[in-house]
Amino acid sequence: HLGEQTNRAYLFKIVIIGDSAVGKSNLLSRYARNEFNAHSKATIGVEFQTQSMEIEGKEVRAQIWDTAGQERFRAVTSAYYRGAVGALVVYEISRRTTFESVGRWLDELKTHSDTTVARMLVGNKCDLESMRAVSVEEGKALSETQGLFFMERSALDSTNVKTAFEMVIRDIYTNIS
Ligand code: GDP
Ligand code: MG
Repeated sequence: HLGEQTNRAYLFKIVIIGDSAVGKSNLLSRYARNEFNAHSKATIGVEFQTQSMEIEGKEVRAQIWDTAGQERFRAVTSAYYRGAVGALVVYEISRRTTFESVGRWLDELKTHSDTTVARMLVGNKCDLESMRAVSVEEGKALSETQGLFFMERSALDSTNVKTAFEMVIRDIYTNIS
């Protein structure tokens, strides 16, 4: 099922995946609370954050899930993916290995989802231009091959953070209406 409609609002589960330390938790805290943490180590016990937006006069709530650091051990469980209708797959533009892992994350997402998932590839830390190890063109090419949206962004200076989440939410909404 694509999302769940309560009497007043739509509720969509969105998961954030990608290698450890690419900035997943900071993207979520930037979007949900407009906060950035320069010293965040692992995620602090929060499973998800709920954000609302309005589309065509309807309230749409996104329940956005963040890992608790288990990706470090390649141990993200099927419960994490269960019921997700959207996903942000994150890599870091300054660390090539995180880009090379994207395929594995997409496979894992596919294995665990039983529905169409709106997916966005996110090249995070685009403020680190001088340390760039993955070009914009490579990110774009991969997203086109795999049929994903693509955006580079920065949780540090908040470039594109809101837009990326809202694009995924709008796509899910469009798919069901
Ligand atoms: P996670 O393991 O994927 O959840 O990554 P975190 O959100 O915990 O971030 C890992 C580290 O990268 C932290 O030290 C953050 O401060 C830093 N970080 C996250 N996003 C950005 C960004 O957009 N730019 C820069 N320069 N650093 C970032
Ligand atoms: Mg984290």
